[in-house]
Amino acid sequence: MKGLKNGMSSVSRRNITQRLVVFASHLPSSSSSSSDSTSMASEKQAALATAPSDADAPTIFDKIINKEIPSNVVYEDDKVFAFRDINPQAPTHILIIPKVKDGLTGLSKAEERHFEILGRLLYTAKLIAKQEGLDDGFRVVINDGPKGCQSVYHIHVHLLGGRQMNWPPG
Ligand code: AMP
Repeated sequence: MKGLKNGMSSVSRRNITQRLVVFASHLPSSSSSSSDSTSMASEKQAALATAPSDADAPTIFDKIINKEIPSNVVYEDDKVFAFRDINPQAPTHILIIPKVKDGLTGLSKAEERHFEILGRLLYTAKLIAKQEGLDDGFRVVINDGPKGCQSVYHIHVHLLGGRQMNWPPG
């Protein structure tokens, strides 16, 4: 059969094609440097390869909260933890996360009980922006799901600043 000639079903082909289309749509324009391209491509690949975990599955962020692996902490209180991104996309790039995930693998899993923690994450972004001296502006981002380029399934707010942001985002 034509579609199975090389051992791949038409469904597998379609899945791969869909993933490549999503992947290609995230590639930077030709004006980007090759190191930017490499970094963005690997980030997108990681996002597309990461299957959403079940709500209780630990992620690398649990180890960071528990200080089992080191991070550059910029803020901590009883509910919220914030640290510098290991692969910064701006001079200031901080991740703000809840200490207790409570099912919030991503924003799409939010329920009414999460009102308070969601507000705290955003308010903390504002506090940290002030602490970091981002007085001329900053950006907050929450990636959700494979098409949103999420790679860690423990909700987090990206706080980016220290350079001019562009619109639309990639
Ligand atoms: P997202 O792609 O929105 O899920 O964001 C996950 C972020 O976590 C990425 O920007 C990564 O660079 C960042 N990240 C992954 N591991 C670490 C780590 N050990 N320390 C700091 N940031 C990390």
